[in-house]
Amino acid sequence: MNTQKYIEGLLKSHALKKTSARIEMLKIFINHSYALSAKEIISHMKITHDRVTIYRTLNSFEKHGILHKASEDSNGIRYALCSHECPEEVHTDEHVHLICEKCSNTYCLEDIKIPKIKVLEKFLAQKINYTINGICNGCLSS
Ligand SMILES: [Zn+2]
Ligand SMILES: [Zn+2]
Ligand SMILES: [Zn+2]
Repeated sequence: MNTQKYIEGLLKSHALKKTSARIEMLKIFINHSYALSAKEIISHMKITHDRVTIYRTLNSFEKHGILHKASEDSNGIRYALCSHECPEEVHTDEHVHLICEKCSNTYCLEDIKIPKIKVLEKFLAQKINYTINGICNGCLSS
């Protein structure tokens, strides 16, 4: 499918305006097989946008179910595209993430759903992250 068309459709379905920053950011996500931090996105952008715009846009994409938080470390939060359209406000595509020890990229393992975990009664689970540390496909075969 045509990337530009796909992005425009995605923004339209979430009632988001087609701004150059939004379109460019989504293109960068589509062109990467791993999750990206705000810093990485800024370094890939051809047009310079102020940092506030980038952070605000990431936030709104997450709220709209277009992106999800894949991992968080000293480099910040890394975001990845949702595999299918998540309904507004709720992410229904929770899956396992792999952080590569070699290239330090975070990959979505979309086929591996987070197993149901029994949480002790005195705690309230709000968000469960399931991360595997290992070596990614690319690093294994190089
Ligand atoms: Zn999602
Ligand atoms: Zn790797
Ligand atoms: Zn993911």
